[in-house]
Amino acid sequence: MVDAFRPPDLSLSAEQIGKRGERFIEDLAASGSDRVDQVRLTLALLDGCLNFLDRTDRQAVRGRLTELEKGKGVFGLLPQQARDLARFAQRLAFILIYGTLDASNRSPASAALGYDIAPDRERGRTATIPPEPLLSKEILVPPDDPIPDHVFDAVVIGSGSGGAVVTRRLVEDHGMDVALLEAGDYVPEGSPSIGPRGERRPLAWDEIETLMRYYKHAGLQLTLGHAMFVFQGQCLGGSSVVNNAVCFRMPDRVRALWRQDFGVPWTGVELDRAYDRIAKEVGIAGAEQVVAGGFLNPSGRFLRSGAVRLGVEQNLHPCDVNISHDPACLGCGYCNLVCGYLRKNSVLQTMLPAAARSARSGKGRLTVFTGRNALCISGEIGNGAFRANGVVVRPRRKHHPEALLRGRKVVVSAGAVASSSVLERTAPINLSGLPIGKRFAFNFGSPVHADYDQEVRAYDGLQIAHYYRPETDQGFVIETWFNPPATQTLALPGWMDDLQRNVDRYMHYACAAPLVGSTSESWVDAHWIGDGEDIHIELQNADLERLRAGLLTTCDLFFNSDPPPRRVLIGAPDDWELTAANYRDRISRLSSFDQIQIGTGHPQGGNCLASKPGSSGGPGVISPDFRVYGTRGLYVADASVFPTSLGVNPHWTVMAIADLASAAIAAG
Ligand SMILES: Cc1cc2nc3c(=O)[nH]c(=O)nc-3n(C[C@H](O)[C@H](O)[C@H](O)COP(=O)(O)OP(=O)(O)OC[C@H]3O[C@@H](n4cnc5c(N)ncnc54)[C@H](O)[C@@H]3O)c2cc1C
Repeated sequence: MVDAFRPPDLSLSAEQIGKRGERFIEDLAASGSDRVDQVRLTLALLDGCLNFLDRTDRQAVRGRLTELEKGKGVFGLLPQQARDLARFAQRLAFILIYGTLDASNRSPASAALGYDIAPDRERGRTATIPPEPLLSKEILVPPDDPIPDHVFDAVVIGSGSGGAVVTRRLVEDHGMDVALLEAGDYVPEGSPSIGPRGERRPLAWDEIETLMRYYKHAGLQLTLGHAMFVFQGQCLGGSSVVNNAVCFRMPDRVRALWRQDFGVPWTGVELDRAYDRIAKEVGIAGAEQVVAGGFLNPSGRFLRSGAVRLGVEQNLHPCDVNISHDPACLGCGYCNLVCGYLRKNSVLQTMLPAAARSARSGKGRLTVFTGRNALCISGEIGNGAFRANGVVVRPRRKHHPEALLRGRKVVVSAGAVASSSVLERTAPINLSGLPIGKRFAFNFGSPVHADYDQEVRAYDGLQIAHYYRPETDQGFVIETWFNPPATQTLALPGWMDDLQRNVDRYMHYACAAPLVGSTSESWVDAHWIGDGEDIHIELQNADLERLRAGLLTTCDLFFNSDPPPRRVLIGAPDDWELTAANYRDRISRLSSFDQIQIGTGHPQGGNCLASKPGSSGGPGVISPDFRVYGTRGLYVADASVFPTSLGVNPHWTVMAIADLASAAIAAG
């Protein structure tokens, strides 16, 4: 099947690429992800659809796949199912074609586009990498080791932006004995750091291996019905390790909403003080100050010239980022592949080593359990309340039975999606009728590629470096964004030869995406058997209106740039190529989310924070002091507590909220 999509003159054979695919699926199965069953089923269905064909006949296979893509089902498939299958095959094939490395550890398909990996660029050849503050062997408990017979002061579930801040505060400021439980593995970020048990990160530009080692379900987390990818980190440090380091405070509109509609009392000066504390610890500064040699995303200069021509340049800014200025960021363009040069101040480089240092100096204690999933909270019922006394855990790779990790307090920071499912699986809490898993929301994006005659080389700079915010809030911001080729192919439109032609223009694109804060009608349903969950998305007209407005503004900026692009591509299955003459009409005619591809790395909500407990219909799972209603000793501190989406990148807010939560947890 790979051969049907593979450029015929590529130096890698279809067999070599196919083998990489097989290894990916084996690794996915070994990682304990339940997505592997869906992937295998999808591949089996595809295989069935190619029955009675000579598989060596490339044209015949291409023809059958194209029939499927046109909605002609075989074996009783419905047209939409046939189309989804064909599109899945294409996505998988392209990511494998552009992500497979050869003996020189480079991707021949990407090199053919003109792409060079960071070490082959002038500044990459001479770059120094600072020593990584690795966690020591003594505090790390790998998944095969037994759970100690010990009662910790607190068990924190999840080591991402929220959990890492809580962990540091409880150890450093409150002298507590903390167990940090993380589903992912400890994979150092620095290339070539080697962890205390020989853990090595993949090559910094190996896109497939990075997805496998640092992302939940290797990047294959999809909403039910395959409508949208939901990207989340799964490793020590969580999504903080794979994110773009872009930092925003909560917009005033959202602060007012949370205060008025949900009774959240701390959205003013208290929250700003927490932002300030975090900013010092993770070194937040303007992108222009931290990126050496001006290597911001090259797309920014096209957006700027468009903004100047339209007289709105005051709305375009460099982003604030948690990236060090000494040594300065190289702008290698690998943020989502994890910062191998150790410039990004993820929580794995800041909060967790600081917690470990404090523990070493005797302020508190820290034990880090990796590679184990929290299934549910254990506790007992007394005086009409559920009192948490630990967490039921199981190694992610499932070699061992469940065990109890005991703690006097439990903090759930498994991120939006998993935090709701851990609470849902805790029967006494679920039966209390709280609206767990409801009011799930996300910031979604849909990349816009502007195709210029000249080379833009948008990959050669900080992945997200600029944002555009209209003077009057229209519910979106626009951000520059670009990735190495395999990942970028996922965002380009077109079927087969059209997609290939679009990918071939890789060097010529400037790219930006409107980011829209969704409404809160979506929800998460935990599986009762196993540790997974389903994500249901339910979007409204308001969401589509904001997306249309965001796409329109992005196209306005690109089509007014100097020089203008020859065309602009949006992520639509049909009618994706826009010109200056037709883009307004085409975008205004988008009438459903089936007509445009969206994705998210910013899930939020599911455990709504509100001043009153809710029931299945309304808000309120968590009180403003971060306690789960009707419980003692059980707290939530991560993106899942957001009553609404922010509409801007959330991790600074997650960290600030976790800072506020820590004081309440220690005092409670
Ligand atoms: C590709 C990408 C780019 C992004 N870019 C930006 C950006 O530039 N700026 C920004 O503000 N935000 C960005 N984000 C979003 C931001 O990183 C997240 O909103 C933030 O990190 C969420 O913090 P959290 O603590 O809620 O969850 P996470 O950081 O996701 O941490 C949750 C942790 O819990 C672990 N876990 C999950 N389930 C279990 C379980 N059952 N048991 C034990 N552990 C579990 C996970 O493995 C994970 O480590 C990006 C996200 C992604 C994926």
